[in-house]
Amino acid sequence: MALTSIYVISDTAAAFPELCAGAKQLAGSVTAIVFGDLAAAEAAAGCGADRILFCPVSDAGSPEDYAAAIAAEVKKDASAYVIVNNTILGRAIAGKVGVYLDAAVFSNVSELAEENGRLAFSRTVYGGAAARRIAFTTPYGVVTVGGGTFEMGAPLPATTQIAQIEGEPAAPLNRISRDEKRETAVNLTAARRIVDVGRGLAKEEDLEICRKLASVLDAEVGCSRPVAENNKWLPKNVYMGITGVQVKPDLLLAIGLSGQIQHIGGINKSRFIVAVNKDKSAPIFKSADFGLVGDLYKVLPLLIEKLS
Ligand SMILES: Cc1cc2nc3c(=O)[nH]c(=O)nc-3n(C[C@H](O)[C@H](O)[C@H](O)COP(=O)(O)OP(=O)(O)OC[C@H]3O[C@@H](n4cnc5c(N)ncnc54)[C@H](O)[C@@H]3O)c2cc1C
Repeated sequence: MALTSIYVISDTAAAFPELCAGAKQLAGSVTAIVFGDLAAAEAAAGCGADRILFCPVSDAGSPEDYAAAIAAEVKKDASAYVIVNNTILGRAIAGKVGVYLDAAVFSNVSELAEENGRLAFSRTVYGGAAARRIAFTTPYGVVTVGGGTFEMGAPLPATTQIAQIEGEPAAPLNRISRDEKRETAVNLTAARRIVDVGRGLAKEEDLEICRKLASVLDAEVGCSRPVAENNKWLPKNVYMGITGVQVKPDLLLAIGLSGQIQHIGGINKSRFIVAVNKDKSAPIFKSADFGLVGDLYKVLPLLIEKLS
């Protein structure tokens, strides 16, 4: 038995195809909620949703302003679940929509399935040490889902049913200014190859050697949380793990990474993991398909030379 209806909300167009493909495997009807005008909705038409509703956010407004309108739309179905892209803005939207639906909200869930007509899912708990299986008991519920959670499957037909959402935005706040963040536009969830940098790197300048390796492999560069959060050597949107991005590339090279469970939670869906660590008892070797015990400063130049 499939769920009746799922609403897919995303603040980034790139996330729709995967989220809608996953939703389509779970529910009879999938509605994508796009923040933008008709042109933005039409651009998203290849996402595979049965219909698209667009919310024309004004320059001074925010996507969350449509939370009440979205909830009112969701409540037109006797039962429906909402899947939101797991970004900072996505989590804010999820919270507000959950309030208007009077429903529970869970962030960063995986392994979504229908169970007894309700949405069920897994969620990492105790800092990554365990996974908890949860099922809604209510007809409505909201979850956020990171990239790499669903399989894409075959391309779905383009959505022809496109309309503006009913209801007006309601803004309790005035935006005073907006400053663009200088972060690299890396989409790790879509990357086929990733060079994953850990704290084994001695200094920021040494990132260059990892970038060189990435360049010869045509890979993206990501990292562990301390490299982004503590050292601030790479932007926060490229650290992987249970609180970061979840990826599933064909190849991931873990360089100078210990392989703590919180990081593994973000990379364990990679098809092939190669680890380089100078400590032969580092836990990363338990998750790696191929392990190289050695100093990254000796191993990487050799790898680059061989692969160039
Ligand atoms: C609630 C919670 C959530 C967390 N969420 C995340 C998360 O989402 N993502 C995340 O990454 N972390 C997360 N963490 C942090 C996590 O527990 C680890 O501290 C972190 O992943 C360790 O990063 P690391 O492997 O880069 O560094 P370290 O653990 O310091 O490992 C560095 C490794 O480099 C090796 N090394 C050193 N020098 C060299 C060399 N020259 N050549 C080769 N190898 C070398 C060492 O042997 C060591 O194994 C979280 C922690 C908590 C408590």
